[in-house]
Amino acid sequence: MPKVPYPNGNGHPDCPLCKGRGGTDEPQPVGPPAFVPCRCTFITERNAKLENVWKGLSRVKRLETSPLTKYPATNLWVHGPIEVFKRHLRYVISENPMKWFVRLETDASVVGAWLSNLAVKGQEIYDLDAMEESTRYFAIQDLALPPDLLIFRVGVKHTPNKDAHSAFHEALAERDHEGKPTWIVDSPSEPWDPDLVSYSESLNELFCSWPKITLKDDSAPPKPNIRLPQGGYHMLSLADEGSGEDETGPPKVRVPGSRKKAKKDPLAELQARERESKPYKKKGGPKR
Ligand SMILES: [Zn+2]
Repeated sequence: MPKVPYPNGNGHPDCPLCKGRGGTDEPQPVGPPAFVPCRCTFITERNAKLENVWKGLSRVKRLETSPLTKYPATNLWVHGPIEVFKRHLRYVISENPMKWFVRLETDASVVGAWLSNLAVKGQEIYDLDAMEESTRYFAIQDLALPPDLLIFRVGVKHTPNKDAHSAFHEALAERDHEGKPTWIVDSPSEPWDPDLVSYSESLNELFCSWPKITLKDDSAPPKPNIRLPQGGYHMLSLADEGSGEDETGPPKVRVPGSRKKAKKDPLAELQARERESKPYKKKGGPKR
Protein backbone atom coordinates (compact mmCIF):
# COMPACT_ATOMS: atom_id res chain seq x y z
CA MET A 1 0.00 0.00 0.00
CA PRO A 2 1.52 3.35 -0.99
CA LYS A 3 2.24 5.70 1.89
CA VAL A 4 0.23 8.86 2.11
CA PRO A 5 2.52 11.89 2.14
CA TYR A 6 2.13 14.21 5.12
CA PRO A 7 4.23 17.25 4.23
CA ASN A 8 2.81 19.15 7.21
CA GLY A 9 2.84 16.32 9.73
CA ASN A 10 3.71 17.05 13.33
CA GLY A 11 6.83 14.88 13.35
CA HIS A 12 10.36 16.15 13.55
CA PRO A 13 11.37 17.09 9.98
CA ASP A 14 14.65 15.18 10.39
CA CYS A 15 13.12 12.10 12.02
CA PRO A 16 14.44 9.04 10.17
CA LEU A 17 11.44 6.98 11.21
CA CYS A 18 8.55 9.14 10.06
CA LYS A 19 10.35 11.79 7.97
CA GLY A 20 8.33 14.47 9.69
CA ARG A 21 5.07 12.74 9.01
CA GLY A 22 4.42 12.29 12.73
CA GLY A 23 3.67 8.58 12.51
CA THR A 24 4.14 5.41 10.54
CA ASP A 25 1.90 2.80 8.97
CA GLU A 26 2.04 -0.33 11.08
CA PRO A 27 0.73 -3.63 9.73
CA GLN A 28 -2.24 -5.00 11.65
CA PRO A 29 -3.27 -8.64 12.08
CA VAL A 30 -6.48 -7.84 10.26
CA GLY A 31 -7.32 -5.02 7.92
CA PRO A 32 -5.26 -2.14 6.58
CA PRO A 33 -2.15 -0.73 8.32
CA ALA A 34 -2.81 1.60 11.26
CA PHE A 35 -1.23 5.02 11.58
CA VAL A 36 0.85 4.94 14.76
CA PRO A 37 2.16 8.21 16.25
CA CYS A 38 5.94 8.39 15.99
CA ARG A 39 8.19 8.46 19.02
CA CYS A 40 9.62 11.80 17.90
CA THR A 41 6.26 13.53 18.41
CA PHE A 42 6.09 12.24 21.97
CA ILE A 43 9.63 13.39 22.76
CA THR A 44 8.96 16.85 21.38
CA GLU A 45 5.65 17.19 23.19
CA ARG A 46 7.00 15.88 26.48
CA ASN A 47 10.07 18.13 26.41
CA ALA A 48 7.90 21.14 25.61
CA LYS A 49 5.72 20.33 28.60
CA LEU A 50 8.74 20.03 30.90
CA GLU A 51 10.11 23.35 29.67
CA ASN A 52 6.73 24.94 30.14
CA VAL A 53 6.63 23.91 33.79
CA TRP A 54 10.19 25.01 34.48
CA LYS A 55 12.73 26.29 32.01
CA GLY A 56 15.58 23.80 31.63
CA LEU A 57 13.59 20.90 33.15
CA SER A 58 13.89 18.74 30.02
CA ARG A 59 17.66 18.87 30.32
CA VAL A 60 18.16 17.89 33.95
CA LYS A 61 19.51 14.50 34.86
CA ARG A 62 17.02 11.70 34.45
CA LEU A 63 16.23 9.59 37.52
CA GLU A 64 15.10 6.00 37.54
CA THR A 65 12.63 6.46 40.37
CA SER A 66 11.25 9.06 42.74
CA PRO A 67 9.28 8.84 46.00
CA LEU A 68 7.25 11.81 44.77
CA THR A 69 5.36 9.66 42.25
CA LYS A 70 3.16 8.44 45.12
CA TYR A 71 1.78 11.92 45.72
CA PRO A 72 0.40 13.34 42.46
CA ALA A 73 -3.01 13.83 44.08
CA THR A 74 -1.95 14.64 47.63
CA ASN A 75 -0.78 17.74 49.46
CA LEU A 76 2.91 17.33 50.11
CA TRP A 77 5.88 19.13 51.62
CA VAL A 78 9.11 18.46 49.75
CA HIS A 79 12.41 19.46 51.29
CA GLY A 80 15.68 19.24 49.42
CA PRO A 81 18.17 21.07 47.20
CA ILE A 82 16.33 22.71 44.33
CA GLU A 83 18.53 21.05 41.70
CA VAL A 84 17.66 17.65 43.19
CA PHE A 85 13.97 18.51 43.29
CA LYS A 86 14.13 19.38 39.59
CA ARG A 87 15.32 15.88 38.74
CA HIS A 88 12.49 14.33 40.74
CA LEU A 89 9.96 16.68 39.19
CA ARG A 90 11.12 15.74 35.71
CA TYR A 91 10.61 12.10 36.58
CA VAL A 92 7.14 12.64 38.07
CA ILE A 93 5.94 14.66 35.09
CA SER A 94 7.36 12.13 32.64
CA GLU A 95 5.58 9.29 34.43
CA ASN A 96 2.18 10.96 34.33
CA PRO A 97 -0.14 11.49 31.37
CA MET A 98 0.69 14.31 29.01
CA LYS A 99 -2.57 16.07 29.83
CA TRP A 100 -1.71 16.22 33.55
CA PHE A 101 -1.43 19.97 34.22
CA VAL A 102 1.37 20.92 36.59
CA ARG A 103 2.19 24.52 37.47
CA LEU A 104 5.17 25.75 39.45
CA GLU A 105 4.82 29.04 41.29
CA THR A 106 6.66 30.82 44.06
CA ASP A 107 5.64 32.64 47.19
CA ALA A 108 6.54 35.80 45.28
CA SER A 109 4.18 35.10 42.39
CA VAL A 110 1.26 34.32 44.68
CA VAL A 111 1.64 37.73 46.31
CA GLY A 112 1.87 39.24 42.84
CA ALA A 113 -1.46 37.67 41.89
CA TRP A 114 -3.00 38.91 45.13
CA LEU A 115 -1.78 42.45 44.61
CA SER A 116 -2.63 42.62 40.93
CA ASN A 117 -6.23 42.05 41.96
CA LEU A 118 -5.95 45.08 44.24
CA ALA A 119 -4.36 47.03 41.39
CA VAL A 120 -7.32 46.19 39.17
CA LYS A 121 -9.49 47.73 41.87
CA GLY A 122 -7.42 50.89 41.70
CA GLN A 123 -5.23 50.52 44.77
CA GLU A 124 -1.58 51.50 44.78
CA ILE A 125 0.96 48.69 45.02
CA TYR A 126 4.23 49.05 46.88
CA ASP A 127 5.95 45.73 46.37
CA LEU A 128 8.90 45.27 44.04
CA ASP A 129 8.37 41.52 43.61
CA ALA A 130 4.71 42.02 42.86
CA MET A 131 5.37 44.70 40.25
CA GLU A 132 7.34 42.13 38.26
CA GLU A 133 4.67 39.46 38.71
CA SER A 134 1.50 41.50 38.49
CA THR A 135 0.98 41.06 34.75
CA ARG A 136 0.85 37.25 34.88
CA TYR A 137 -2.35 36.76 36.85
CA PHE A 138 -5.21 39.06 37.65
CA ALA A 139 -6.32 37.18 40.74
CA ILE A 140 -5.30 34.40 43.09
CA GLN A 141 -7.85 32.11 41.45
CA ASP A 142 -6.19 32.51 38.04
CA LEU A 143 -2.96 31.30 39.55
CA ALA A 144 -4.25 28.67 41.93
CA LEU A 145 -7.22 26.89 40.43
CA PRO A 146 -6.43 25.61 36.90
CA PRO A 147 -3.56 23.16 37.50
CA ASP A 148 -4.08 19.53 38.50
CA LEU A 149 -1.04 19.95 40.72
CA LEU A 150 0.21 23.31 41.94
CA ILE A 151 3.73 23.48 43.31
CA PHE A 152 4.85 26.41 45.44
CA ARG A 153 8.52 27.02 45.85
CA VAL A 154 8.95 29.02 49.04
CA GLY A 155 11.78 31.34 49.96
CA VAL A 156 11.74 33.24 46.66
CA LYS A 157 9.87 36.26 48.01
CA HIS A 158 12.23 38.67 49.72
CA THR A 159 10.43 42.00 49.71
CA PRO A 160 8.55 42.20 53.02
CA ASN A 161 4.81 42.32 52.56
CA LYS A 162 2.21 41.97 55.28
CA ASP A 163 -0.12 40.25 52.78
CA ALA A 164 2.36 37.55 51.81
CA HIS A 165 1.02 34.79 54.03
CA SER A 166 -2.59 35.87 53.49
CA ALA A 167 -2.12 35.50 49.74
CA PHE A 168 -0.52 32.12 50.24
CA HIS A 169 -3.34 31.05 52.53
CA GLU A 170 -6.01 32.09 50.08
CA ALA A 171 -4.36 30.18 47.25
CA LEU A 172 -4.23 27.04 49.39
CA ALA A 173 -7.81 27.47 50.55
CA GLU A 174 -8.99 27.81 46.95
CA ARG A 175 -7.16 24.62 46.03
CA ASP A 176 -8.52 22.80 49.03
CA HIS A 177 -12.05 23.87 48.22
CA GLU A 178 -11.68 22.40 44.73
CA GLY A 179 -10.14 19.22 46.14
CA LYS A 180 -6.90 19.81 44.25
CA PRO A 181 -3.47 18.98 45.64
CA THR A 182 -0.64 21.39 46.35
CA TRP A 183 3.02 20.79 47.00
CA ILE A 184 5.32 23.19 48.78
CA VAL A 185 9.03 22.96 48.18
CA ASP A 186 11.71 24.40 50.39
CA SER A 187 15.45 23.88 50.32
CA PRO A 188 18.30 23.76 52.83
CA SER A 189 19.39 27.19 51.61
CA GLU A 190 15.88 28.67 51.93
CA PRO A 191 14.14 26.52 54.55
CA TRP A 192 10.53 27.10 55.54
CA ASP A 193 10.98 28.99 58.79
CA PRO A 194 9.95 32.29 60.44
CA ASP A 195 12.69 34.14 58.53
CA LEU A 196 10.72 33.78 55.31
CA VAL A 197 8.47 36.65 54.25
CA SER A 198 5.63 34.25 53.43
CA TYR A 199 5.85 32.39 56.76
CA SER A 200 3.04 32.33 59.29
CA GLU A 201 2.30 30.07 62.22
CA SER A 202 -1.03 28.95 60.80
CA LEU A 203 0.58 28.07 57.45
CA ASN A 204 3.29 26.23 59.29
CA GLU A 205 0.69 24.22 61.18
CA LEU A 206 -0.97 23.33 57.92
CA PHE A 207 2.25 22.26 56.21
CA CYS A 208 3.30 20.22 59.23
CA SER A 209 0.06 18.24 58.87
CA TRP A 210 1.05 17.23 55.31
CA PRO A 211 3.29 14.28 54.42
CA LYS A 212 6.90 15.44 54.12
CA ILE A 213 9.55 14.01 51.81
CA THR A 214 13.20 14.92 52.20
CA LEU A 215 15.20 14.52 49.00
CA LYS A 216 18.84 13.63 49.13
CA ASP A 217 21.43 14.23 46.51
CA ASP A 218 22.30 10.63 45.70
CA SER A 219 23.07 10.49 42.01
CA ALA A 220 22.18 6.97 40.97
CA PRO A 221 23.45 5.67 37.65
CA PRO A 222 20.84 5.94 34.90
CA LYS A 223 18.98 2.85 33.86
CA PRO A 224 19.60 1.70 30.30
CA ASN A 225 16.03 1.80 29.04
CA ILE A 226 12.95 3.85 29.70
CA ARG A 227 9.37 2.77 29.98
CA LEU A 228 7.15 4.16 27.32
CA PRO A 229 3.94 5.83 28.44
CA GLN A 230 0.75 4.01 27.71
CA GLY A 231 -0.86 4.83 24.43
CA GLY A 232 -0.26 4.00 20.85
CA TYR A 233 3.30 5.18 20.61
CA HIS A 234 6.02 3.40 18.73
CA MET A 235 7.15 0.22 20.44
CA LEU A 236 10.77 1.21 20.51
CA SER A 237 12.97 0.86 23.53
CA LEU A 238 15.17 3.89 23.80
CA ALA A 239 18.35 4.12 25.78
CA ASP A 240 17.48 7.71 26.45
CA GLU A 241 14.78 9.91 25.09
CA GLY A 242 15.94 13.06 26.75
CA SER A 243 19.13 14.94 27.05
CA GLY A 244 20.07 14.39 30.66
CA GLU A 245 23.54 15.30 31.74
CA ASP A 246 23.99 11.69 32.87
CA GLU A 247 24.37 10.30 29.39
CA THR A 248 27.33 8.11 28.71
CA GLY A 249 27.81 7.22 25.07
CA PRO A 250 25.22 7.43 22.34
CA PRO A 251 21.66 6.28 23.01
CA LYS A 252 20.56 3.04 21.39
CA VAL A 253 17.40 1.87 19.71
CA ARG A 254 16.22 -1.69 20.12
CA VAL A 255 13.24 -3.13 18.31
CA PRO A 256 11.37 -5.65 20.45
CA GLY A 257 11.67 -9.13 19.02
CA SER A 258 15.09 -8.43 17.58
CA ARG A 259 18.24 -9.13 19.52
CA LYS A 260 20.39 -7.37 16.98
CA LYS A 261 21.48 -3.92 17.87
CA ALA A 262 21.09 -1.33 15.17
CA LYS A 263 24.45 -0.56 13.64
CA LYS A 264 23.50 2.97 12.95
CA ASP A 265 21.03 4.59 15.26
CA PRO A 266 18.90 7.10 13.36
CA LEU A 267 16.87 8.25 16.34
CA ALA A 268 19.99 8.78 18.42
CA GLU A 269 21.35 10.99 15.68
CA LEU A 270 18.13 12.96 15.71
CA GLN A 271 18.30 13.33 19.49
CA ALA A 272 21.92 14.42 19.28
CA ARG A 273 20.99 17.04 16.72
CA GLU A 274 18.14 18.19 18.94
CA ARG A 275 20.50 18.64 21.84
CA GLU A 276 22.86 20.69 19.76
CA SER A 277 20.13 22.97 18.50
CA LYS A 278 18.07 23.74 21.61
CA PRO A 279 15.67 25.35 21.92
CA TYR A 280 14.12 23.30 19.18
CA LYS A 281 11.49 25.07 17.18
CA LYS A 282 9.59 24.07 14.14
CA LYS A 283 6.38 24.80 12.37
CA GLY A 284 3.36 23.06 13.71
CA GLY A 285 5.05 21.85 16.88
CA PRO A 286 3.42 21.93 20.27
CA LYS A 287 2.89 25.43 21.51
CA ARG A 288 4.40 26.53 24.76
ZN1 LIG B 1 9.23 10.66 13.80
